[in-house]
Formats: sequence, structure tokens, C-alpha cells
Amino acid sequence: MIAFAPSSALNNSAENTMASYMFAQFLSHVNNAALNVLYHPGAPTPYSGIYRCEVCGTEAVSVAPHPLPPQNHHVHQFGAGPIQWRLIVASTHR
Ligand SMILES: [Zn+2]
Repeated sequence: MIAFAPSSALNNSAENTMASYMFAQFLSHVNNAALNVLYHPGAPTPYSGIYRCEVCGTEAVSVAPHPLPPQNHHVHQFGAGPIQWRLIVASTHR
């Protein structure tokens, strides 16, 4: 049986600004330069996976080689600066 928690119990709460996972064995910690780069909105997605806005923490899934979400993906407070995407979880399959 597959059961899913209501979406409100996972990522939709205002105070939760981090991606969630249950089974750590499906993720591996790496020190890879590709995960330490900030990408511009609309740039080609270099690696499929979960991206996080460096400015506000908003997350988005993006698939290579499609463009990363554009600048109008979400709105920052005045003066916070433009969206900057960081790959936080890379998928091993395309
Ligand atoms: Zn943002």
C-alpha cells in the first residue's frame, strides 16, 4: 500500500523552507562543484533535479536541458535581488 501525507503536511507550510525526504538511503552526500554554482533564471538546466532560490528558499524541479524557471517564477521583496538558482538535489536519471 502506498500512502501519501496530505501536501499541507510536507512543503506547503510557511515556516518550512527546506526540501523534505524520508529515506536517507536514496540520497548521497557529495562534494561536487556542480552543486556549488548559482544559475540565472531561464538558463539551460545543466542537471535535472531540485533547485533552490538562493535569495528566498523557493524550490523548483527542473529537467535538463529545458530552461530553469524564469525570473517571473516568484516575486522577491523589493531590493532582495533577482532569482538565483542552486542545484540542491541532483537526479541520477534524466
Ligand atoms: Zn527567490
